[in-house]
Amino acid sequence: MLIDCHAHLDSYSDAEVGEILERGRRVGVGFVMSAGATLKTSYRSIELAHTYDDFFSGVGIHPMNVTGPVDDATYEQLRAMALSTEKVVVISEIGLDFMEGAPDRAIQYQAFREQIRLARELRLPVVFHSREAHDEVFRVLREERAYEVGGVMHYFQDDENTARKAIELGFYVSLARPLLRLPHLQRAVANLSLDDIVLETDAAPQPFKPKRENWTEPRHLRVIADKLAALQGRAPEEVEEATSANIRALLGRGWQTVTKYLPTAQPAI
Ligand SMILES: [Zn+2]
Repeated sequence: MLIDCHAHLDSYSDAEVGEILERGRRVGVGFVMSAGATLKTSYRSIELAHTYDDFFSGVGIHPMNVTGPVDDATYEQLRAMALSTEKVVVISEIGLDFMEGAPDRAIQYQAFREQIRLARELRLPVVFHSREAHDEVFRVLREERAYEVGGVMHYFQDDENTARKAIELGFYVSLARPLLRLPHLQRAVANLSLDDIVLETDAAPQPFKPKRENWTEPRHLRVIADKLAALQGRAPEEVEEATSANIRALLGRGWQTVTKYLPTAQPAI
């Protein structure tokens, strides 16, 4: 079974999500963990988790979407959503983004720290975003003791040294479609242990791609997993088993929820 640990399917209609999940199932995708990026999209993601058994959700405010500090009321809303169903299995998507035009950094730091606090309070792992901010992201994760709940460095596309920093801090690195085209990433990944890797697509609508069939979807996990297997000289089944076992370890009691909705989801460890 393949697991998409990070996607954004909230802006699709219920019917479209059903079709996307079905296309994923056909290539062995067991389930998808869709992220929230705002309060509203977190809510919508939870709604979809109620609709589809193989859809699990995160709640979180993305660093590019912070508009003000996570005050008590916002924290409480996130907390209430996370507790509203056992199908919320991660705090996602949170982090720091220092790209030009990104929101005020002081507000980003505050929102990131508060959401790690929430993750620790609820004992949920975090899926984090880092763009042009790795050292600061790692510092905040360390200071806020995010390693106590663990998590995933999402959409990893950097070098081996950065991957090792994330892993040493207690996190998995998550690989997506850039693995198919970035030589430096391919070199880095060839040297990493499968025990430290998970997979994702970060799938979201891509209207800038004229052909709908080219939009990234969970079904693309198959080519990412095959590429990883080739780079490591392993069988694709080994990649499937290892990355599923990693998600099982990551989710902890959340995995019990997964097996409740998907009774066949029991990868070997
Ligand atoms: Zn994302």
